[in-house]
Amino acid sequence: MTPKKGIALLGSTGSIGTQALQVIEAFPEQFDLQVLTAYKNADLLIEQAKKYSPNTVVIGDESEFERVKNELWDDEIHVYCGERALEQVVDSSEIDIVLTAMVGYAGLKPTLAAIRAKKNIALANKETLVVAGELITKEALQNGVNIYPVDSEHSAIFQCLTGEFQNPIEKIYLTASGGPFRGFTSEQLSKVTKEQALNHPCWEMGAKITVDSASMMNKGLEVIEAKWLFNLKPEQIDVIVHPQSIVHSLVQFEDGSMKAQMGVPNMKLPIQYALTFPKRLKTDFPRFNFMDYPNLTFEKPDLKTFGNLQLAYDALEAGGTMACALNAANEVAVDAFLNDKIHFTDIARINEKTMNQVQVLFSPTLEDYIAVDKEARKVAESLING
Ligand code: NDP
Repeated sequence: MTPKKGIALLGSTGSIGTQALQVIEAFPEQFDLQVLTAYKNADLLIEQAKKYSPNTVVIGDESEFERVKNELWDDEIHVYCGERALEQVVDSSEIDIVLTAMVGYAGLKPTLAAIRAKKNIALANKETLVVAGELITKEALQNGVNIYPVDSEHSAIFQCLTGEFQNPIEKIYLTASGGPFRGFTSEQLSKVTKEQALNHPCWEMGAKITVDSASMMNKGLEVIEAKWLFNLKPEQIDVIVHPQSIVHSLVQFEDGSMKAQMGVPNMKLPIQYALTFPKRLKTDFPRFNFMDYPNLTFEKPDLKTFGNLQLAYDALEAGGTMACALNAANEVAVDAFLNDKIHFTDIARINEKTMNQVQVLFSPTLEDYIAVDKEARKVAESLING
């Protein structure tokens, strides 16, 4: 019998985190849940810890530490708090794979710590590769660490590449649903509300990625993520709008053959594949029925109206820390939009202006990324606050 895989689940209280727990729960003979972490949601973290009995939990927000510790006292679960603990917790010999399901730039240091501790990564936190893809992929190579994609598009590419690792990729196509504002004009887009932006037609996700999907920033971040995961040039990465979200992405090889991965939209599938690769375990997930989808359609993305996607290509072209600056500006702008401080179309405007104002550093170190992230946040905030 193969030993169980020890799992650290960073960001267990989020959309990916809670779905990952359902996957882990379905295969008790495969997985050994070692670590759960959250940032603020102490109630759900406590509930999860009582149900799944991990060895250790970390709550990022230090003000919740006493409560979490007291609640879990009788359960003999180690409880830590704070940012440093989120990094240190992955360094246990019982952990084989770290699922990074926290949102945003906050994923960078814990992911790097996990790589340096030689743990394989199941990567949902795309922002880490957007911010510091050059450093992360270099460190993963040096430490012999595999990064398994959780993002459905990148999982699709990875699944298409399985068995093809000797064959060069000519091109990949990342599919995009187009989000709730597909087909909108700039004029219409300038009037959309937070409630509309948070209402995604195909996927139920956390607030930040839902707004990113509506603004096409998510697809831009995925273009950058794909560059680093699959070692591609920007011109090898194309985006195609596919509103039904059935074809999750495609690879085109040098002989012209194309492979696609398909299925009913369901994040549990790529989460599970990242944790069990190269095995596929039997599930009762809903199966695809062709008669439910007699037409699968494809369109060109509108890069003019949805400027964020173009900005991502621009950031790749510029190289160095430009994508880090874009990510920081976007996190600040999305937060401002969710707090009713700016309009939806201001997000791309703030992102672009910040990219123009922040200096680009090449061959960046971790300290460079941290400095650029800080500077870009300052610039974006000053653009918002006037
Ligand atoms: P959610 O907002 O639902 O969850 C975010 C998780 O991160 C929560 O556990 C949250 O804790 C934790 N968190 C928030 N801030 C911090 C911080 N500063 N430090 C540490 N942990 C923090 O996000 P999603 O699950 O939707 O997304 C997670 C990641 O996965 C993102 O990078 C996203 O782009 C990616 N992804 C998500 C998909 C989806 O379907 N949701 C699909 C593909 C990729 P708390 O609850 O305590 O605040």
